[in-house]
Amino acid sequence: MIKDYTSVWDSCLRTIRRNVSSQSFKTWFEPIRPVQLKDNALTIQVPNKFFYEWLEEHYVSLLKMTIRQELGETGRLEYQILMGKPSASKKDSPLAPSTGQKRSNGDGFQPGMVDSGNIKNPFVIPGIKKLKIDSQLNPNYHFDNFIEGDCNRLARSAGMAIAKRPGGTAFNPLIIFGDVGLGKTHLAQAVGNEVLGQYPGKTVLYVSSEKFTNQIIQSIKNNAVNDFVNFYQLVDVLIVDDIQFLANKTKTQEIFFHIFNQLHQNGKQLILTSDRPPKDLDGMEERLISRFKWGLSADLQAPDLETRMAILESKMNREGIELPYNVTEFICYNIKNNIRELEGVLVSLIAQSSLNRREIDLVLAKEVIKNFVKQINKEITVDFIQKLVADHFNVPVEKLAAKTRKRSIVIARQLSMYLAKNLTNKSLKAIGENFGGRDHSTVIYSCKAVQDLLDTDMIFKDTVADLEKKIKLSLSENS
Ligand code: ADP
Ligand code: MG
Repeated sequence: MIKDYTSVWDSCLRTIRRNVSSQSFKTWFEPIRPVQLKDNALTIQVPNKFFYEWLEEHYVSLLKMTIRQELGETGRLEYQILMGKPSASKKDSPLAPSTGQKRSNGDGFQPGMVDSGNIKNPFVIPGIKKLKIDSQLNPNYHFDNFIEGDCNRLARSAGMAIAKRPGGTAFNPLIIFGDVGLGKTHLAQAVGNEVLGQYPGKTVLYVSSEKFTNQIIQSIKNNAVNDFVNFYQLVDVLIVDDIQFLANKTKTQEIFFHIFNQLHQNGKQLILTSDRPPKDLDGMEERLISRFKWGLSADLQAPDLETRMAILESKMNREGIELPYNVTEFICYNIKNNIRELEGVLVSLIAQSSLNRREIDLVLAKEVIKNFVKQINKEITVDFIQKLVADHFNVPVEKLAAKTRKRSIVIARQLSMYLAKNLTNKSLKAIGENFGGRDHSTVIYSCKAVQDLLDTDMIFKDTVADLEKKIKLSLSENS
């Protein structure tokens, strides 16, 4: 027997009526219109998204049971959602009226509303359960492995606040901006993953600007822009990555503007990332930029040395590997502006060591890092150490090579030798030559004297650590 959609829905309604209060029936089921029955899926039309959510939240098992009763085990239910706010959408965007789908009273559509069509989109898996949208999130990006530092504190804590109350904070939209490889994508996705963890019912969607643009081009081609827009309105947290790529794409910006407004008005959360601050987004419509200013723009800076070390250590823990401390330090001194590169060095190092069966040490690290940093060959020189130390102790640098036995000069001289021995590849003899032709035993004696002082004098120890850091840093700064 071939069933038609009205009679199937009528039978469903009879069952439903027996299972819910008459008030609920009137409110939630009477306004529903059956629209088609195809491939054993009954499509029903509901007035708006809120309606659809309510049904899914409160009546999903009843609906499922009823549909199965009518259509058998493979029976499914699909929704068609009519979108509200006709005046707002008309004013804000030419999209809604342009498709000519506005229906008049009398043919089942409410006045002024726009037919969204069935919700079709590459992300959607329709079914009776929840209209399920794959978030497209990478599950490896979360807050736990997003190391906090001065460089990201504001953005990170705003992200965490949003994850607790998506759409409910002043940070809407949240714009995360910063140079490449500093963690924009990671952080934006961490918010998405956290939202899903705390609110499994919420719909989160991550999309790159590129993909977003391609979808729009596709939907224009297929005459389905409205489907596209309506689909995006089902999202509770929308993450659009690298919005600088929307520059000069007028049509895409127009559609994005519309989606942005609708979501924002409905208290949905927007998270956008960009490689530059909103005001510098050339080729972006002014009205969009002004929307971006509604929320919070937080930047990610290049991480300082401590944060780089912490990030690298956390990656190593996760990979289950250990590197000698001086290797980690060497990497972090030299790779400063890009965390992706920091990881790249680590991966190369592991690969090199296992391919060539070599131990990971400073020599291997230097070889690997050469591919990442241009001037890594640059060595620390004895001259440079002498100058820095002399400056620090406020003594003339030439006195280090002289015969003076003045206490402050002796200390500066001995310390310079000690640092030269530890931080350069120079032989003891060569180092001695840099200090007015002193011989190698003098250098050994000096190093021992410094070591004794280091073991007993904490202030001196701090001074030496500071100087060491300065020397290494200045090396990587010039690279
Ligand atoms: P962007 O999108 O800004 O170009 P990504 O988010 O892709 O940067 O980050 C590059 C890499 O650095 C990713 O693998 C990411 O996990 C890592 N990363 C960035 N910031 C941090 C951080 N604070 N803690 C740990 N890893 C980070
Ligand atoms: Mg990115």
